[in-house]
Amino acid sequence: MLKKLKILMVSPECVPFAKTGGLGDCVASLSLHLAKLGHDVRIAMPLYTEIALPKSTIANPEPMIVNLGYGTEYAKLWEHRNENLITYFIEFNRYFGRDGIYSGCYGDHCDNPERFAFMCRSALDLCYFKNWLPDLIHCHDWTTGLIPVYLCTTERNLPLGRTGSVFTIHNIQHHGLAPKSILKFSGIPDHVFRPDGVEAVGMVNMMKAGIYFSKKLTTVSHCYSKEIQTPNFGFGLENVLKFKAGDLIGICNGIDISNWNPETDRLIPANYSAGNMTGKLACKRELQKTFGLEQNDAIPIFCVVSRLAEQKGLDLLANILHRVINHMAVQFVVLGNGEFWLESRLSELASIYNSKIGTFIGFDEKLSHLVLAGSDLLVIPSRFEPCGLTQMYAMRYGTLPLAHSTGGLSDTIENYDKSTNAGTGFLFSNLSHDALYNTLGWACATYYDDKINFNAMRYRAMQKDFSWKCSAEKYIEVYHWAMEI
Ligand code: ADP
Repeated sequence: MLKKLKILMVSPECVPFAKTGGLGDCVASLSLHLAKLGHDVRIAMPLYTEIALPKSTIANPEPMIVNLGYGTEYAKLWEHRNENLITYFIEFNRYFGRDGIYSGCYGDHCDNPERFAFMCRSALDLCYFKNWLPDLIHCHDWTTGLIPVYLCTTERNLPLGRTGSVFTIHNIQHHGLAPKSILKFSGIPDHVFRPDGVEAVGMVNMMKAGIYFSKKLTTVSHCYSKEIQTPNFGFGLENVLKFKAGDLIGICNGIDISNWNPETDRLIPANYSAGNMTGKLACKRELQKTFGLEQNDAIPIFCVVSRLAEQKGLDLLANILHRVINHMAVQFVVLGNGEFWLESRLSELASIYNSKIGTFIGFDEKLSHLVLAGSDLLVIPSRFEPCGLTQMYAMRYGTLPLAHSTGGLSDTIENYDKSTNAGTGFLFSNLSHDALYNTLGWACATYYDDKINFNAMRYRAMQKDFSWKCSAEKYIEVYHWAMEI
Protein backbone atom coordinates (compact mmCIF):
# COMPACT_ATOMS: atom_id res chain seq x y z
CA MET A 1 0.00 0.00 0.00
CA LEU A 2 1.26 3.49 -0.86
CA LYS A 3 2.07 5.69 2.12
CA LYS A 4 -0.24 8.55 3.10
CA LEU A 5 1.13 11.84 1.86
CA LYS A 6 1.43 15.39 3.11
CA ILE A 7 0.20 17.50 0.22
CA LEU A 8 0.12 21.28 -0.05
CA MET A 9 -2.21 22.67 -2.74
CA VAL A 10 -1.45 26.23 -3.75
CA SER A 11 -4.09 27.99 -5.80
CA PRO A 12 -5.51 31.47 -6.36
CA GLU A 13 -9.04 29.99 -6.30
CA CYS A 14 -10.85 27.41 -4.25
CA VAL A 15 -14.57 26.81 -3.80
CA PRO A 16 -16.51 27.93 -1.76
CA PHE A 17 -14.20 30.86 -1.02
CA ALA A 18 -13.13 32.19 -4.41
CA LYS A 19 -14.03 31.07 -7.91
CA THR A 20 -13.97 32.49 -11.41
CA GLY A 21 -14.06 29.15 -13.25
CA GLY A 22 -13.31 25.45 -13.11
CA LEU A 23 -9.97 25.88 -11.30
CA GLY A 24 -11.75 26.75 -8.04
CA ASP A 25 -14.03 23.70 -8.31
CA CYS A 26 -11.17 21.36 -9.19
CA VAL A 27 -8.85 22.37 -6.33
CA ALA A 28 -11.63 22.10 -3.76
CA SER A 29 -13.10 18.80 -4.83
CA LEU A 30 -9.76 17.07 -5.51
CA SER A 31 -8.45 18.20 -2.10
CA LEU A 32 -11.54 16.97 -0.29
CA HIS A 33 -11.35 13.65 -2.05
CA LEU A 34 -7.65 13.19 -1.20
CA ALA A 35 -8.29 14.16 2.42
CA LYS A 36 -11.08 11.57 2.62
CA LEU A 37 -8.58 8.96 1.41
CA GLY A 38 -6.53 9.76 4.51
CA HIS A 39 -3.87 12.09 3.09
CA ASP A 40 -2.88 15.21 5.02
CA VAL A 41 -4.02 17.84 2.52
CA ARG A 42 -3.71 21.56 3.12
CA ILE A 43 -4.58 24.41 0.79
CA ALA A 44 -2.85 27.81 0.68
CA MET A 45 -4.58 30.75 -0.95
CA PRO A 46 -4.87 34.53 -0.56
CA LEU A 47 -7.50 36.11 1.66
CA TYR A 48 -9.37 38.29 -0.83
CA THR A 49 -11.73 41.03 0.33
CA GLU A 50 -14.74 39.04 -0.90
CA ILE A 51 -13.99 36.09 1.38
CA ALA A 52 -16.08 36.03 4.53
CA LEU A 53 -14.44 33.51 6.83
CA PRO A 54 -16.85 31.46 8.93
CA LYS A 55 -16.08 32.25 12.59
CA SER A 56 -16.91 28.76 13.86
CA THR A 57 -14.19 27.02 11.90
CA ILE A 58 -11.43 29.59 11.91
CA ALA A 59 -8.53 30.04 14.31
CA ASN A 60 -7.26 33.53 15.14
CA PRO A 61 -4.69 34.82 12.65
CA GLU A 62 -0.98 34.61 13.38
CA PRO A 63 1.56 37.12 12.11
CA MET A 64 3.95 35.46 9.69
CA ILE A 65 7.14 36.69 8.02
CA VAL A 66 7.32 36.44 4.23
CA ASN A 67 10.88 36.47 2.87
CA LEU A 68 10.98 38.38 -0.38
CA GLY A 69 14.02 39.38 -2.39
CA TYR A 70 14.01 42.99 -1.14
CA GLY A 71 13.41 42.13 2.51
CA THR A 72 10.71 40.80 4.77
CA GLU A 73 7.00 41.55 4.97
CA TYR A 74 4.46 40.61 7.63
CA ALA A 75 1.34 38.79 6.53
CA LYS A 76 -1.44 37.36 8.66
CA LEU A 77 -2.07 33.66 8.43
CA TRP A 78 -5.60 32.37 9.01
CA GLU A 79 -6.33 28.68 9.45
CA HIS A 80 -9.68 27.20 8.50
CA ARG A 81 -10.67 23.60 9.23
CA ASN A 82 -13.38 21.67 7.45
CA GLU A 83 -13.57 17.96 8.17
CA ASN A 84 -10.00 16.74 7.53
CA LEU A 85 -9.02 19.61 5.33
CA ILE A 86 -7.05 22.69 6.42
CA THR A 87 -7.09 25.86 4.35
CA TYR A 88 -4.52 28.57 5.05
CA PHE A 89 -5.53 32.07 4.05
CA ILE A 90 -2.76 34.60 3.53
CA GLU A 91 -3.90 38.07 4.46
CA PHE A 92 -1.88 40.90 3.00
CA ASN A 93 -3.95 43.93 2.16
CA ARG A 94 -1.52 45.67 -0.17
CA TYR A 95 -2.03 42.85 -2.66
CA PHE A 96 -5.28 41.13 -1.79
CA GLY A 97 -7.38 43.78 -0.04
CA ARG A 98 -9.17 44.94 -3.16
CA ASP A 99 -12.03 43.87 -5.44
CA GLY A 100 -11.51 40.98 -7.86
CA ILE A 101 -9.20 37.98 -7.89
CA TYR A 102 -7.33 38.89 -11.06
CA SER A 103 -9.02 42.07 -12.23
CA GLY A 104 -11.12 44.98 -11.06
CA CYS A 105 -13.27 47.56 -12.82
CA TYR A 106 -10.23 48.84 -14.79
CA GLY A 107 -9.18 45.44 -16.13
CA ASP A 108 -6.42 43.12 -14.93
CA HIS A 109 -4.60 44.25 -11.78
CA CYS A 110 -1.31 45.57 -13.14
CA ASP A 111 0.68 44.16 -10.21
CA ASN A 112 -0.61 40.59 -10.68
CA PRO A 113 2.94 39.16 -11.03
CA GLU A 114 3.96 40.67 -7.65
CA ARG A 115 0.66 39.64 -6.04
CA PHE A 116 1.05 36.01 -7.03
CA ALA A 117 4.81 35.89 -6.50
CA PHE A 118 3.90 36.98 -2.97
CA MET A 119 1.37 34.15 -2.75
CA CYS A 120 4.04 31.64 -3.87
CA ARG A 121 6.64 32.82 -1.37
CA SER A 122 4.12 32.92 1.50
CA ALA A 123 2.97 29.38 0.71
CA LEU A 124 6.54 28.16 1.24
CA ASP A 125 7.15 30.33 4.28
CA LEU A 126 4.01 29.04 5.93
CA CYS A 127 5.39 25.49 5.76
CA TYR A 128 8.43 26.56 7.81
CA PHE A 129 6.27 28.71 10.06
CA LYS A 130 3.90 25.81 10.78
CA ASN A 131 6.78 23.37 10.97
CA TRP A 132 4.91 21.20 8.47
CA LEU A 133 6.97 20.00 5.53
CA PRO A 134 4.85 18.59 2.72
CA ASP A 135 6.00 15.62 0.67
CA LEU A 136 4.64 17.37 -2.32
CA ILE A 137 3.37 20.76 -3.47
CA HIS A 138 0.65 20.70 -6.10
CA CYS A 139 0.71 23.95 -8.08
CA HIS A 140 -2.08 25.20 -10.33
CA ASP A 141 -1.54 27.43 -13.38
CA TRP A 142 0.74 30.43 -13.88
CA THR A 143 0.01 32.14 -10.57
CA THR A 144 1.88 29.32 -8.82
CA GLY A 145 4.64 28.96 -11.43
CA LEU A 146 7.41 30.37 -9.23
CA ILE A 147 7.00 27.68 -6.56
CA PRO A 148 8.85 24.94 -8.50
CA VAL A 149 11.56 27.54 -9.27
CA TYR A 150 11.98 28.32 -5.56
CA LEU A 151 12.15 24.60 -4.75
CA CYS A 152 14.97 24.11 -7.26
CA THR A 153 16.92 27.26 -6.33
CA THR A 154 16.55 29.09 -3.00
CA GLU A 155 15.19 26.03 -1.17
CA ARG A 156 17.53 23.51 -2.74
CA ASN A 157 19.66 23.05 0.38
CA LEU A 158 16.86 23.77 2.83
CA PRO A 159 14.23 21.35 4.18
CA LEU A 160 11.77 22.14 1.36
CA GLY A 161 14.44 21.17 -1.17
CA ARG A 162 13.29 17.56 -0.74
CA THR A 163 9.65 18.35 -1.48
CA GLY A 164 8.34 17.19 -4.86
CA SER A 165 6.32 19.40 -7.18
CA VAL A 166 3.47 18.77 -9.56
CA PHE A 167 2.28 21.58 -11.81
CA THR A 168 -1.19 21.35 -13.34
CA ILE A 169 -2.02 23.31 -16.45
CA HIS A 170 -5.68 24.28 -16.35
CA ASN A 171 -5.38 26.77 -19.20
CA ILE A 172 -2.18 27.35 -21.18
CA GLN A 173 -3.51 30.63 -22.63
CA HIS A 174 -2.65 32.73 -19.55
CA HIS A 175 1.11 33.02 -19.05
CA GLY A 176 1.70 35.59 -16.33
CA LEU A 177 4.32 37.71 -18.10
CA ALA A 178 6.47 39.96 -15.93
CA PRO A 179 9.62 42.04 -16.32
CA LYS A 180 12.87 40.44 -15.22
CA SER A 181 12.74 42.50 -12.02
CA ILE A 182 10.13 40.07 -10.67
CA LEU A 183 13.03 37.73 -9.92
CA LYS A 184 14.72 40.29 -7.69
CA PHE A 185 11.38 41.04 -6.06
CA SER A 186 10.85 37.34 -5.36
CA GLY A 187 14.40 36.55 -4.28
CA ILE A 188 14.96 34.10 -7.13
CA PRO A 189 18.49 34.08 -8.59
CA ASP A 190 18.99 35.72 -11.99
CA HIS A 191 20.58 32.66 -13.59
CA VAL A 192 17.13 31.11 -14.22
CA PHE A 193 16.45 33.93 -16.69
CA ARG A 194 17.37 32.00 -19.83
CA PRO A 195 15.38 30.36 -22.63
CA ASP A 196 15.71 26.92 -21.01
CA GLY A 197 14.38 28.43 -17.80
CA VAL A 198 11.82 31.13 -17.06
CA GLU A 199 12.58 33.52 -19.93
CA ALA A 200 10.38 34.00 -23.00
CA VAL A 201 10.53 36.98 -25.36
CA GLY A 202 12.65 38.93 -22.91
CA MET A 203 10.16 38.57 -20.05
CA VAL A 204 9.68 36.18 -17.17
CA ASN A 205 6.91 33.78 -18.19
CA MET A 206 5.47 32.34 -14.98
CA MET A 207 3.61 29.54 -16.77
CA LYS A 208 6.82 28.48 -18.50
CA ALA A 209 8.63 28.67 -15.14
CA GLY A 210 6.18 26.17 -13.65
CA ILE A 211 6.46 23.89 -16.67
CA TYR A 212 10.25 23.92 -16.70
CA PHE A 213 10.99 23.57 -13.02
CA SER A 214 8.25 21.26 -11.75
CA LYS A 215 9.07 17.58 -11.38
CA LYS A 216 5.89 16.40 -13.07
CA LEU A 217 3.25 18.11 -15.17
CA THR A 218 -0.40 17.38 -15.64
CA THR A 219 -3.21 18.80 -17.73
CA VAL A 220 -6.86 18.44 -16.89
CA SER A 221 -7.72 16.04 -19.71
CA HIS A 222 -5.87 13.55 -21.85
CA CYS A 223 -6.76 15.15 -25.18
CA TYR A 224 -5.60 18.61 -23.99
CA SER A 225 -2.21 17.17 -22.97
CA LYS A 226 -1.67 16.25 -26.63
CA GLU A 227 -3.25 19.39 -28.12
CA ILE A 228 -1.01 21.82 -26.21
CA GLN A 229 2.05 20.27 -27.82
CA THR A 230 0.88 21.68 -31.17
CA PRO A 231 1.10 25.30 -32.44
CA ASN A 232 -2.69 25.63 -32.68
CA PHE A 233 -3.21 25.07 -28.96
CA GLY A 234 0.17 25.66 -27.31
CA PHE A 235 0.07 29.49 -27.26
CA GLY A 236 3.81 29.58 -28.01
CA LEU A 237 4.74 27.08 -25.29
CA GLU A 238 4.31 23.97 -27.46
CA ASN A 239 8.05 23.40 -27.80
CA VAL A 240 8.65 23.59 -24.07
CA LEU A 241 5.81 21.13 -23.61
CA LYS A 242 7.20 18.79 -26.23
CA PHE A 243 10.53 18.94 -24.42
CA LYS A 244 8.81 18.00 -21.16
CA ALA A 245 6.43 15.50 -22.77
CA GLY A 246 7.96 12.58 -20.86
CA ASP A 247 6.88 14.22 -17.59
CA LEU A 248 3.43 15.26 -18.82
CA ILE A 249 0.24 13.33 -18.26
CA GLY A 250 -3.43 14.21 -18.79
CA ILE A 251 -5.81 13.47 -15.90
CA CYS A 252 -9.42 14.35 -16.45
CA ASN A 253 -11.03 16.47 -13.74
CA GLY A 254 -13.73 14.88 -11.67
CA ILE A 255 -16.67 16.75 -10.19
CA ASP A 256 -18.10 17.06 -6.71
CA ILE A 257 -20.95 14.59 -7.10
CA SER A 258 -22.55 15.45 -3.78
CA ASN A 259 -22.82 19.15 -4.59
CA TRP A 260 -24.00 18.42 -8.15
CA ASN A 261 -26.69 15.83 -7.60
CA PRO A 262 -30.23 16.32 -8.94
CA GLU A 263 -31.58 13.89 -6.34
CA THR A 264 -30.51 16.04 -3.38
CA ASP A 265 -29.72 19.50 -4.78
CA ARG A 266 -31.34 22.15 -2.56
CA LEU A 267 -30.75 24.91 -5.10
CA ILE A 268 -33.37 23.61 -7.55
CA PRO A 269 -37.16 23.67 -7.09
CA ALA A 270 -37.69 19.91 -7.42
CA ASN A 271 -35.39 16.92 -7.20
CA TYR A 272 -35.30 14.09 -9.69
CA SER A 273 -33.29 11.06 -10.76
CA ALA A 274 -32.63 9.01 -13.88
CA GLY A 275 -35.45 6.70 -12.78
CA ASN A 276 -37.96 9.45 -12.04
CA MET A 277 -37.63 12.57 -14.17
CA THR A 278 -40.84 14.37 -13.18
CA GLY A 279 -38.96 16.93 -11.07
CA LYS A 280 -37.02 18.05 -14.15
CA LEU A 281 -40.22 19.44 -15.66
CA ALA A 282 -40.80 21.56 -12.55
CA CYS A 283 -37.24 22.89 -12.98
CA LYS A 284 -37.94 23.69 -16.64
CA ARG A 285 -41.08 25.64 -15.74
CA GLU A 286 -39.24 27.57 -13.03
CA LEU A 287 -36.41 28.33 -15.46
CA GLN A 288 -38.82 29.68 -18.08
CA LYS A 289 -40.46 31.83 -15.42
CA THR A 290 -37.14 33.13 -14.06
CA PHE A 291 -35.90 34.13 -17.53
CA GLY A 292 -39.27 35.50 -18.71
CA LEU A 293 -39.65 32.94 -21.48
CA GLU A 294 -42.91 31.61 -22.89
CA GLN A 295 -44.22 28.83 -20.61
CA ASN A 296 -44.08 25.79 -22.84
CA ASP A 297 -43.31 22.25 -21.66
CA ALA A 298 -42.80 20.87 -25.14
CA ILE A 299 -40.09 23.21 -26.45
CA PRO A 300 -36.40 22.30 -25.95
CA ILE A 301 -34.32 24.74 -23.93
CA PHE A 302 -30.68 25.15 -24.95
CA CYS A 303 -28.54 26.80 -22.30
CA VAL A 304 -25.12 28.36 -21.83
CA VAL A 305 -23.36 28.62 -18.45
CA SER A 306 -20.00 30.13 -19.13
CA ARG A 307 -17.41 32.82 -18.96
CA LEU A 308 -18.06 35.00 -22.00
CA ALA A 309 -14.53 34.83 -23.35
CA GLU A 310 -13.17 34.25 -26.84
CA GLN A 311 -12.05 30.77 -25.79
CA LYS A 312 -15.65 29.69 -25.31
CA GLY A 313 -16.65 30.35 -28.96
CA LEU A 314 -19.92 31.98 -27.95
CA ASP A 315 -19.41 34.73 -30.53
CA LEU A 316 -20.24 32.01 -33.10
CA LEU A 317 -23.46 31.23 -31.28
CA ALA A 318 -24.37 34.93 -31.06
CA ASN A 319 -23.80 35.25 -34.82
CA ILE A 320 -26.23 32.46 -35.72
CA LEU A 321 -28.89 32.97 -33.05
CA HIS A 322 -31.15 34.98 -35.42
CA ARG A 323 -31.06 32.13 -37.90
CA VAL A 324 -31.66 29.49 -35.24
CA ILE A 325 -34.61 31.28 -33.65
CA ASN A 326 -36.19 31.88 -37.06
CA HIS A 327 -35.87 28.27 -38.20
CA MET A 328 -36.15 26.11 -35.10
CA ALA A 329 -38.74 25.94 -32.34
CA VAL A 330 -36.32 26.35 -29.43
CA GLN A 331 -35.58 28.55 -26.45
CA PHE A 332 -32.19 29.79 -25.20
CA VAL A 333 -31.03 30.66 -21.72
CA VAL A 334 -27.64 32.30 -21.21
CA LEU A 335 -25.95 32.69 -17.83
CA GLY A 336 -22.55 34.26 -18.18
CA ASN A 337 -20.29 37.24 -17.84
CA GLY A 338 -17.04 38.42 -19.29
CA GLU A 339 -16.25 40.36 -22.43
CA PHE A 340 -18.44 43.42 -22.63
CA TRP A 341 -19.22 43.27 -26.36
CA LEU A 342 -20.48 39.70 -26.04
CA GLU A 343 -22.54 40.52 -22.96
CA SER A 344 -24.21 43.37 -24.90
CA ARG A 345 -24.71 41.34 -28.06
CA LEU A 346 -26.43 38.51 -26.19
CA SER A 347 -28.54 40.92 -24.13
CA GLU A 348 -29.59 42.69 -27.32
CA LEU A 349 -30.70 39.39 -28.86
CA ALA A 350 -32.65 38.60 -25.69
CA SER A 351 -34.47 41.91 -25.93
CA ILE A 352 -35.39 41.26 -29.58
CA TYR A 353 -36.60 37.69 -28.96
CA ASN A 354 -37.73 38.09 -25.37
CA SER A 355 -40.03 35.05 -25.26
CA LYS A 356 -37.34 32.81 -26.79
CA ILE A 357 -34.02 34.03 -25.41
CA GLY A 358 -33.30 34.90 -21.80
CA THR A 359 -30.00 36.19 -20.43
CA PHE A 360 -28.56 36.79 -17.01
CA ILE A 361 -25.28 38.68 -17.22
CA GLY A 362 -23.35 37.96 -14.06
CA PHE A 363 -21.88 35.15 -12.01
CA ASP A 364 -24.51 33.31 -9.98
CA GLU A 365 -23.71 29.90 -8.55
CA LYS A 366 -27.27 29.19 -7.37
CA LEU A 367 -28.79 30.14 -10.69
CA SER A 368 -26.31 27.89 -12.51
CA HIS A 369 -27.91 24.88 -10.79
CA LEU A 370 -31.40 25.89 -11.96
CA VAL A 371 -30.19 26.57 -15.51
CA LEU A 372 -28.48 23.19 -15.80
CA ALA A 373 -31.42 21.34 -14.22
CA GLY A 374 -34.19 23.09 -16.17
CA SER A 375 -32.62 22.95 -19.64
CA ASP A 376 -32.57 20.12 -22.16
CA LEU A 377 -29.25 20.84 -23.83
CA LEU A 378 -26.07 22.75 -22.96
CA VAL A 379 -24.18 24.49 -25.78
CA ILE A 380 -20.33 24.57 -25.57
CA PRO A 381 -18.72 25.68 -28.85
CA SER A 382 -15.31 26.26 -27.22
CA ARG A 383 -12.33 26.97 -29.47
CA PHE A 384 -10.31 24.97 -26.95
CA GLU A 385 -11.34 23.41 -23.67
CA PRO A 386 -8.71 22.08 -21.23
CA CYS A 387 -11.36 20.00 -19.46
CA GLY A 388 -14.63 21.81 -18.92
CA LEU A 389 -16.85 21.01 -15.98
CA THR A 390 -20.24 22.25 -17.10
CA GLN A 391 -20.72 19.38 -19.55
CA MET A 392 -20.25 16.91 -16.69
CA TYR A 393 -22.63 18.81 -14.40
CA ALA A 394 -25.14 18.98 -17.26
CA MET A 395 -24.99 15.24 -17.97
CA ARG A 396 -25.64 14.48 -14.32
CA TYR A 397 -28.77 16.62 -14.57
CA GLY A 398 -29.95 14.89 -17.75
CA THR A 399 -29.12 17.95 -19.87
CA LEU A 400 -27.27 16.82 -22.96
CA PRO A 401 -24.13 18.67 -24.02
CA LEU A 402 -23.75 19.92 -27.57
CA ALA A 403 -20.09 20.73 -28.03
CA HIS A 404 -17.05 21.25 -30.22
CA SER A 405 -15.04 18.05 -30.00
CA THR A 406 -11.87 19.38 -28.39
CA GLY A 407 -9.87 18.81 -25.19
CA GLY A 408 -11.86 17.57 -22.23
CA LEU A 409 -15.12 17.86 -24.14
CA SER A 410 -14.09 15.06 -26.48
CA ASP A 411 -12.78 13.02 -23.52
CA THR A 412 -16.00 13.24 -21.52
CA ILE A 413 -18.81 13.36 -24.10
CA GLU A 414 -19.65 10.37 -26.25
CA ASN A 415 -21.17 11.40 -29.58
CA TYR A 416 -24.71 10.30 -30.35
CA ASP A 417 -24.90 7.40 -32.78
CA LYS A 418 -28.43 6.47 -33.72
CA SER A 419 -27.40 3.23 -35.42
CA THR A 420 -25.90 1.78 -32.23
CA ASN A 421 -28.05 3.77 -29.83
CA ALA A 422 -24.93 5.07 -28.11
CA GLY A 423 -23.81 8.48 -26.94
CA THR A 424 -24.33 11.11 -24.27
CA GLY A 425 -24.30 14.28 -26.37
CA PHE A 426 -23.88 15.93 -29.76
CA LEU A 427 -20.35 16.67 -30.98
CA PHE A 428 -19.00 18.44 -34.05
CA SER A 429 -15.39 18.57 -35.11
CA ASN A 430 -14.79 21.59 -37.32
CA LEU A 431 -15.64 24.76 -35.52
CA SER A 432 -17.65 27.00 -37.85
CA HIS A 433 -21.00 28.77 -37.92
CA ASP A 434 -22.46 26.10 -40.16
CA ALA A 435 -21.17 23.19 -38.10
CA LEU A 436 -22.70 24.72 -34.98
CA TYR A 437 -25.98 25.53 -36.75
CA ASN A 438 -26.26 22.02 -38.20
CA THR A 439 -25.52 20.38 -34.88
CA LEU A 440 -28.17 22.51 -33.17
CA GLY A 441 -30.55 21.34 -35.92
CA TRP A 442 -29.54 17.71 -35.39
CA ALA A 443 -30.15 17.95 -31.63
CA CYS A 444 -33.45 19.76 -32.17
CA ALA A 445 -34.66 17.13 -34.64
CA THR A 446 -33.66 14.34 -32.26
CA TYR A 447 -35.52 16.06 -29.42
CA TYR A 448 -38.76 16.38 -31.41
CA ASP A 449 -38.73 13.35 -33.72
CA ASP A 450 -36.77 10.75 -31.80
CA LYS A 451 -37.94 11.21 -28.25
CA ILE A 452 -37.20 7.64 -27.21
CA ASN A 453 -33.56 7.88 -28.23
CA PHE A 454 -33.24 11.37 -26.78
CA ASN A 455 -34.51 10.14 -23.42
CA ALA A 456 -32.33 7.03 -23.57
CA MET A 457 -29.35 9.32 -24.10
CA ARG A 458 -30.39 11.36 -21.08
CA TYR A 459 -30.54 8.21 -19.03
CA ARG A 460 -27.06 7.13 -20.13
CA ALA A 461 -25.62 10.58 -19.44
CA MET A 462 -27.05 10.55 -15.91
CA GLN A 463 -25.45 7.17 -15.19
CA LYS A 464 -21.93 8.30 -16.06
CA ASP A 465 -19.39 8.23 -13.25
CA PHE A 466 -17.64 11.61 -13.14
CA SER A 467 -16.56 11.31 -9.51
CA TRP A 468 -12.97 11.96 -8.45
CA LYS A 469 -12.36 8.32 -7.54
CA CYS A 470 -10.39 7.29 -10.59
CA SER A 471 -8.66 10.64 -11.22
CA ALA A 472 -7.60 11.07 -7.58
CA GLU A 473 -5.88 7.68 -7.73
CA LYS A 474 -4.00 8.82 -10.82
CA TYR A 475 -2.90 12.00 -9.02
CA ILE A 476 -1.56 9.92 -6.13
CA GLU A 477 0.51 7.93 -8.62
CA VAL A 478 1.85 11.13 -10.17
CA TYR A 479 2.67 12.53 -6.71
CA HIS A 480 4.75 9.43 -5.93
CA TRP A 481 6.35 9.67 -9.33
CA ALA A 482 7.30 13.32 -8.65
CA MET A 483 8.74 12.44 -5.25
CA GLU A 484 11.03 9.76 -6.62
CA ILE A 485 13.24 12.26 -8.43
P1 ADP B 1 -13.60 27.55 -17.20
O1 ADP B 1 -12.81 27.09 -16.03
O2 ADP B 1 -12.81 27.63 -18.47
O3 ADP B 1 -14.34 28.82 -16.95
P2 ADP B 1 -15.22 25.17 -16.74
O4 ADP B 1 -16.37 24.57 -17.47
O5 ADP B 1 -14.08 24.27 -16.41
O6 ADP B 1 -14.73 26.45 -17.53
O7 ADP B 1 -15.73 25.72 -15.34
C1 ADP B 1 -16.61 26.79 -15.27
C2 ADP B 1 -17.23 26.76 -13.89
O8 ADP B 1 -17.75 28.05 -13.62
C3 ADP B 1 -18.40 25.81 -13.81
O9 ADP B 1 -18.53 25.40 -12.46
C4 ADP B 1 -19.58 26.69 -14.22
O10 ADP B 1 -20.79 26.21 -13.72
C5 ADP B 1 -19.18 27.99 -13.56
N1 ADP B 1 -19.68 29.21 -14.21
C6 ADP B 1 -19.21 29.78 -15.35
N2 ADP B 1 -19.88 30.93 -15.57
C7 ADP B 1 -20.77 31.06 -14.58
C8 ADP B 1 -21.73 32.05 -14.24
N3 ADP B 1 -21.91 33.13 -14.99
N4 ADP B 1 -22.47 31.88 -13.12
C9 ADP B 1 -22.29 30.79 -12.35
N5 ADP B 1 -21.39 29.82 -12.59
C10 ADP B 1 -20.63 29.96 -13.70
